[in-house]
Amino acid sequence: MGFLSKLFSNLTKSKPKGKPGYTTLDGPHGLWFYVQCDKCDEKIPVRVRTTSEIQRREGPEADLGPGQYFVQKTIVGSRCYQRIEAAIEFDARYNVVEAKVKNGKLITHKELNAKDEP
Ligand SMILES: [Zn+2]
Repeated sequence: MGFLSKLFSNLTKSKPKGKPGYTTLDGPHGLWFYVQCDKCDEKIPVRVRTTSEIQRREGPEADLGPGQYFVQKTIVGSRCYQRIEAAIEFDARYNVVEAKVKNGKLITHKELNAKDEP
């Protein structure tokens, strides 16, 4: 593919929209997401700064993931020492497009607040 056609495809390619519910905005520079530990089931809210921790997918990063923004974060809860490694892709409004969470899973804000017992 030549340079011009690649540029053109980058301009016209639309990024997928994310699913709401997995993130909560907190002020102008804060974003919460929520993970659950595979080992002890602890539900852990994680706050990241949109200004420093979340990166925009642009330039050489643009084609490496489906999001407009992405973050990579290692989380350790308070109940066990398992390191949960989250790689999350967001759309332009910080809704989650794709999440890869090692040793845990991404949960919604609703699931965070739900009681553990059925
Ligand atoms: Zn744990």
